[in-house]
Amino acid sequence: MEQIKVRAHAKINTFLEVLNLRSDGYHNIRTLFQTVDLADEVNIEKALSGITLFCDNPQVPSNRNNLAFKAAELMLKEAKISTGLKIKIVKNIPVTAGLAGGSSDAAAVLNGCNVLLNCNLSYKKLVEIALQLGSDVPFLLKGGTQLGEGRGELLTELELLSEFWLVLVVEGEKKSTGSVFKALKKTSTKPPIFDKTIKYCLAKNTFNKVELVQILHNDLEVPAGKLFPEILKVKEELRKAGARGVLMSGSGPAVFGLAYTKSEAEKIAAKLKIKYEKVLITKTIKPQRLGEPNGNHGS
Ligand code: ATP
Repeated sequence: MEQIKVRAHAKINTFLEVLNLRSDGYHNIRTLFQTVDLADEVNIEKALSGITLFCDNPQVPSNRNNLAFKAAELMLKEAKISTGLKIKIVKNIPVTAGLAGGSSDAAAVLNGCNVLLNCNLSYKKLVEIALQLGSDVPFLLKGGTQLGEGRGELLTELELLSEFWLVLVVEGEKKSTGSVFKALKKTSTKPPIFDKTIKYCLAKNTFNKVELVQILHNDLEVPAGKLFPEILKVKEELRKAGARGVLMSGSGPAVFGLAYTKSEAEKIAAKLKIKYEKVLITKTIKPQRLGEPNGNHGS
């Protein structure tokens, strides 16, 4: 049976500002999304009928509760052909960490099915479908460096002028993104953070190393830090180990430390590994999209 292999990259947020609560229950946000090299492997194969999903991580649901499963259902509806799908996910992205692993698997299934099932849906249509699955999914269709507004679906592509190495530390597990957003209401104070540097970078459409370190900010850090005080300790340890900048990703608890080179990242990671179990080294990446020259798809 025909199949396709897609890498589903993790994302970090290098800037995240939570704005007003909307009438649909979501918050408007202003965020800088960034994909990293760390990725799940998603294999999609045509089958006779129905959808089956297997994931090598038992923490992850293998039924309709899996976002990749829901993405497959939506694409089968669009394809209007009678076929089934068999999805296999090799999970490398830590789960419930704020790295959008589930959302990225879903985006990979949308892109993968668009090619495998010859749907030929436009990027705009894929964004619409992606938003039904989650606020991070539209960004993950393309990845790279993008400003996300609205719920995260109003996207502007930007260029990161040089790659960054990252040391990711995942200590503890949050219950849900909603719990962190709820805690935000009680704790947040609002200094002006969408300041000169970020506006300047958006105007010229690029970020260099120094600018990226300068703009690091996440409104959800304070509430997440109250729910999981370990986050603040991890940040401190990363700073002491020599990270150029340190921030919690998304709604946490994953924290990343920035390094300019791989060897710098390795030195930082070696120090963190003495104290923490889940320490990963990765780097920023702009993935090739499926169907584009040198895209990351298989047979
Ligand atoms: P979010 O902020 O969107 O909740 P996250 O990045 O913190 O996401 P994920 O690893 O995406 O965390 O998982 C969030 C939840 O989604 C978990 O409780 C998990 O059971 C569920 N889930 C559904 N599909 C997947 C998937 N393909 N991979 C990982 N988790 C998934």
